[in-house]
Amino acid sequence: MELTKEIQEFLINDALERFLCYVKIWSTSDQNIKTTPSTKIQFDLGKLLVEELKELNLENIIHDEYGFVYAYLPPSKGFEKTQPIGFLAHLDTSESVNGKDVKPIIHKNYNGDPILYEKDSELSLTLHDSANLEKYKGLDIITSQGDTLLGADDKAGIAEIMAACAAWNKFDELKHGPIYICFSPDEEIGLGIQKVDIKKLAEICYTLDGGEIGELEYECFDAWLALFKFKGLNIHPGYAKNKMINAIQIASRFFSELPEAESPEHTEEREGYYHLTKLEGKAEEATARMLIRDFESENNQRRINYLESLKQTYELRYPGLNIEIDFTHQYLNMLRYIEKNIKVVELAKKSIKKAGLEVKIHSIRGGTDGAQLSARGITTPNIFTGGELFHSRKEFIPTIALQKAAEVLIYLAQLWIK
Ligand SMILES: [Zn+2]
Repeated sequence: MELTKEIQEFLINDALERFLCYVKIWSTSDQNIKTTPSTKIQFDLGKLLVEELKELNLENIIHDEYGFVYAYLPPSKGFEKTQPIGFLAHLDTSESVNGKDVKPIIHKNYNGDPILYEKDSELSLTLHDSANLEKYKGLDIITSQGDTLLGADDKAGIAEIMAACAAWNKFDELKHGPIYICFSPDEEIGLGIQKVDIKKLAEICYTLDGGEIGELEYECFDAWLALFKFKGLNIHPGYAKNKMINAIQIASRFFSELPEAESPEHTEEREGYYHLTKLEGKAEEATARMLIRDFESENNQRRINYLESLKQTYELRYPGLNIEIDFTHQYLNMLRYIEKNIKVVELAKKSIKKAGLEVKIHSIRGGTDGAQLSARGITTPNIFTGGELFHSRKEFIPTIALQKAAEVLIYLAQLWIK
């Protein structure tokens, strides 16, 4: 069923009103705090959502000690036996930019000129920042005042899910199966989703946490962490000849052997890398930390083998030197799990097309909550929110995105009951 003008208008008005309200609620997470949620303020947004979910007649609404909000939307009559699906978005915003006292500004009828900011006269948003702005001429764009991020990541995702729930509540003709909703804390510090109760989710879920309109993500890095210890031998430098084994000196030589082309600053798209994030120590001992990333696990295995062979070469070259390398697998490319249930992706593509959009498949050069959930048996691709330039004072979203993402959810629910 195609969505009527009335429903589309309802969606944009509902999502916009909610979005403007959510972004004003401060919910920055903090990676230095190890509790979940890392910041108590995330409960504030959660509390509001609980009230709104009640108004929309969802059931089993829970706000737990970790800050998760769960809710259940019972199926339309006659669709009780259809596949349950779930929608997730995160409550927190990134700490990399101030997220307190966000004041959203709607720039009506954007004409392509640079958007200027009231709170920072040096800052402007132009076509250089996002080529997509060209397509949004004549539409409304929401930004911050230039002194904070906007928080479309991921309050746009929350508003879009809530608007879909509001539409399911209001329009009986929008049929759907059982739907599970979850708003989670601390996505930005990578720790929230570990505390999720997967019994309160469906086996098939979608996160709404992507970027530009039409985007669909179901692949992320295969990720390893390597921790190094170089054990040398310190001797008074005046008597050191043929005796000193300078661990920090040798370690820096060791890492200079890695191909420069395989570093984050020289790679893009599907290329992988070694990323040395820390090297410290003295002549006696040095330690280092490295991230190893690729979409293909075989390529990461090749990098691990190379580091092992370098270790052997260096221990031979410097007798008495001892190198320990501890490799930990951090997360797997979620495509490995999604391939087993490709319908999850196929229906998402269909829904995006039904909403009149071009599907933009994008590989995530990082991790995602969906990767952790997929590893735990919940197949979870990521759908666009329509926001762009996340974690920046230039973050923006065209208002049409709020409607389009909500439409995609409604089409998805329809396709899953067929
Ligand atoms: Zn996000």
